[in-house]
Amino acid sequence: MRIRALTIPAALLSVSAVACSPEAAVPPAMPVMEASSATVVAPSYAQGPGLDRSAIDESTSACTDFYQHACGAWLKNTPIPDDKAGWTRSFSVIDEKNKELLKAILTDLSAGKTGGVAFGKEMASVYGACMDESAIEKRGAKPLAPIFTTVNRLTKKNLAETLAALHTQGIPAFFAFGPTPDAKDSSQMIGDLVQGGIGLPDRDYYFDDDAKTKEVQSAYRKYLETLFTLSGKKPAAAKQLAEDVYGLEKRLAEHMMNKVDRRDPQKVTNKMDLAKVESLAPGFSWKTYLKMMKVSDAVAINVSMVAYMKALPERFDKEPLPLVKSYLEARILSSTATQLSKPFDDAAFAYKAALTGQKTREIRWKRCVGLVNDGMGEALAQPFVAKTLGDGGKDAVQKLIMAIEASMEARLPTLAWMDDETRAKAFEKVRAIVNKVVHPSKWRSYEGLAVKAGDHFGNVLAAEAFENARQMTKVGKPVDREEWFMSPPDVNAYYDAQTNQMVFPAGILQPPFYGPQNAKSANFGAIGMVMGHELTHGFDDEGRQFDAKGNLTDWWTPACSKGFDERAECVVAQYNDFVPIDDLHVNGKLTLGENLADLGGINLAYQAMMSDAEASKTGSAGFTPQQTFFYAYAQSWCTNQRPEMQRLRVKTDPHSPPKFRVNGPLTNMPAFREAFACKAGDAMIRENACRVW
Ligand SMILES: [Zn+2]
Repeated sequence: MRIRALTIPAALLSVSAVACSPEAAVPPAMPVMEASSATVVAPSYAQGPGLDRSAIDESTSACTDFYQHACGAWLKNTPIPDDKAGWTRSFSVIDEKNKELLKAILTDLSAGKTGGVAFGKEMASVYGACMDESAIEKRGAKPLAPIFTTVNRLTKKNLAETLAALHTQGIPAFFAFGPTPDAKDSSQMIGDLVQGGIGLPDRDYYFDDDAKTKEVQSAYRKYLETLFTLSGKKPAAAKQLAEDVYGLEKRLAEHMMNKVDRRDPQKVTNKMDLAKVESLAPGFSWKTYLKMMKVSDAVAINVSMVAYMKALPERFDKEPLPLVKSYLEARILSSTATQLSKPFDDAAFAYKAALTGQKTREIRWKRCVGLVNDGMGEALAQPFVAKTLGDGGKDAVQKLIMAIEASMEARLPTLAWMDDETRAKAFEKVRAIVNKVVHPSKWRSYEGLAVKAGDHFGNVLAAEAFENARQMTKVGKPVDREEWFMSPPDVNAYYDAQTNQMVFPAGILQPPFYGPQNAKSANFGAIGMVMGHELTHGFDDEGRQFDAKGNLTDWWTPACSKGFDERAECVVAQYNDFVPIDDLHVNGKLTLGENLADLGGINLAYQAMMSDAEASKTGSAGFTPQQTFFYAYAQSWCTNQRPEMQRLRVKTDPHSPPKFRVNGPLTNMPAFREAFACKAGDAMIRENACRVW
């Protein structure tokens, strides 16, 4: 699946893999910059729709550091809540509001007011059981007994059965298997084998030896030790087991593909049949594994990480059986800890706090709302969309998207580095993009999901098993182009290269990103830029390798390809120079796709705004339309973030920190310079501006 989201989906950063309440999907904060008097602001301090004058730091010039200028007062006056690792003016505020709405829905359902809501009773059961902390406390670690029994029966011969039993319940170990569109035939789903099963956030965390990474490593080892103690091991044994399991994970990590290579579609596309998988990774019964996963062994399989899968048999062979058992126990414990009694939950939180700097856990109801949204998102979303934008707002949003697409079509002929042959294909691709807004056209059914009142852990496992079974039925079937990969309440958006679709859930179609009452120039700067960002993903270093139909095909002439690479290199170099915290640099290669999307996105949105008769003439709060546009953009990214979270993001997130998502693209934009009358030599003007799209 090659989904490129606006921000990192929260689930990918959660400590637990089995549903845990998602937290705000937000990027980092910023150092205070020097003050300057040359600000270009009108005298009135009225709050205009779509932007917030009180957020502005008047002591920093727009031309010195626009992010600090547009967000500075907000950054100073907005503390991060204790239960969050970061806080944004847009994502977090909307997310909290959405959670309140979802809570009200679930409270009604729990009181029996189902009002015809599909699967209302089931959602009430999941929510109610999750809220019943005393029942969860009473059961302690008992719910794990059946899964541990499976692991205790492990022999060198039944590893495939054991792993399948864990994988079907959502417990990650050694690798993951799921459906993916065939890279060369995007109409067909095949199987996908992916590396996995480590507890640190990324394989590099096992090898980096700076002081901060070492702190995270030791917090993780301590976490494993606590989990083993809680599951009944003696203290000395628990400590030893934690060290041994950590060692095994490190040996797995050695063979893992790094995060920059994982972005390269050529490197992760290796389709083969079962016989070839068997000869690549012999000694493991792939046939049995597929049978247990209820997938036909006639299906084609993409082996995303060949070197890793090749190395696995040796690990299976060389690691002592008791250690493999302990490793599997560690995976079970760490992926379910947040759903068990308080001592387990505390251990998980201590590790999460070390990783993210979060001070306290989210209040129970927020976690339980998150759990229902994770497990039954498309049922919970139906009453949600009725209370938010609803279908009535779809048309206006679609019109904005069409304006952004028209910008792309208008820009293509202006690109001197592009030859006509490639340009014709680019046109074809833009015109083929399918846009989806608010909610899916057909809702997913939860028929057969066996949840019951009072059984929290059972419900979590049932939801995992249900979802896993749904995923497995896709393997070998045609691609379902109606499926969504985000829940409508999510404050996010994505582009999927393999279906050539952009998706904007109801969650993000709210102020300050979007509001029918906002100045139109502000809507273009905030949600318009998001739309431009997703569209540009179809043409970033990764997306450009897929054609209009979503097939991995080289539709570029060699000269044009070279022209693109040279321009992309300018962006890599620009972002490599950014240092968000301590001496940690942004990884220009890891973040290239997102940075290209930001740069393209803001340019497309600006052009669309200027081509719109109303938007190009209406500013807000005393600003010109152009200034309003740039303020709305910057202010949708104002973010405070704890230092631990900043480090985690820089080391793992393909998105750049918010300050650079704003200042990076704008320093390359002549229109920004004009809007704020910046002069040569100002920090917001790059001498050799990067332009790609
Ligand atoms: Zn993106």
